[in-house]
Amino acid sequence: MARITLRQLLDHAAEYGYGVPAFNINNMEQGLAILEAADKVDAPVIIQASRGARSYANDIVLKHLIDALAEMYPHIPICMHQDHGNNEATCATAIQYGFTSVMMDGSLKADAKTPADYDYNVRVTKAVVDMAHWVGASVEGELGVLGSLETGMGEKEDGHGFEGKLDHDQLLTDPDQAVDFVRATEVDALAIAMGTSHGAYKFTRKPDGDVLAMNVIEEIHRRLPNTHLVMHGSSSVPQDLQDIINKYGGEMPQTWGVPVEEIQRGIKHGVRKINIDTDNRMAMTGAIRKIFVENPGEFDPRKYLKPAMEAMRAVCQQRMEEFGGAGMASKIKPLPLSAMAKRYAAGELAPKIGITRQAAE
Ligand SMILES: [Zn+2]
Repeated sequence: MARITLRQLLDHAAEYGYGVPAFNINNMEQGLAILEAADKVDAPVIIQASRGARSYANDIVLKHLIDALAEMYPHIPICMHQDHGNNEATCATAIQYGFTSVMMDGSLKADAKTPADYDYNVRVTKAVVDMAHWVGASVEGELGVLGSLETGMGEKEDGHGFEGKLDHDQLLTDPDQAVDFVRATEVDALAIAMGTSHGAYKFTRKPDGDVLAMNVIEEIHRRLPNTHLVMHGSSSVPQDLQDIINKYGGEMPQTWGVPVEEIQRGIKHGVRKINIDTDNRMAMTGAIRKIFVENPGEFDPRKYLKPAMEAMRAVCQQRMEEFGGAGMASKIKPLPLSAMAKRYAAGELAPKIGITRQAAE
């Protein structure tokens, strides 16, 4: 079975200059849609589950669902990732259930809503890195708190995130601190705060540099050229999906997401993992609403879930192609966790800190 770690996958993405969309999952239909898209274009995939998704679907169901997808598509490398782990236990139990990668989000305290100080973030992230690397699993850390540069507000989704006003500097990852953080924690990937937020209501206009700080990505990549960067909250919230939902009885106020061309610009500057959930939720919802309006007598869930899956498959496939991952799955030979553990133990995967370290030494 072709399960892959985040580290091996993103190392490959860096070598070949592409980005990998990370799609959230909490049910069978989403899993089938993602893998069908990957199969069509020969792309590796990252599937991620939040704490909310794990409790919704149940860890045992999720574990067997991923096993089933891997068995159905043995030629597609699948990375199974914990999205926004809030503490060491969440990350440890994810690995126990077959996840090959975890995010330890130490930008917030274990309650997943109180912004944490830097020392706490380093301490808890390093503890998870040690534990995960012993068994070969990968770790994504986060520096900076996700929220809107337009409003200064943090955001909460699925019970995760700070609600309230944040300082401007909390909303933007500090490049110097990023270097220190990667050196201290040895994370495999780093999520940064640069104006993206979760959910559909990211921007009140098409974002420019004032509200989507792509320059922060470029600056961090300049200092950490070997660190894989992660963009959270990076759905594009396409107008056509908003229109379908609203045409068939939905009430979504006009909103803007992260334009695909900005993500493509990020991929040129070290962004390797791009988190997408809202676009898929919208695609499925639009398809279901259409069936309900056009055929109100329908009550067989398959009659509306099949079109919903097809709509999600189309979004996933489009992002795989736009981010450059098409054609890459067959180029990868996934290593088992045990082989990755040996590579960590041998020091092969320790972070290579770029120009800043050389300048300082
Ligand atoms: Zn996130």
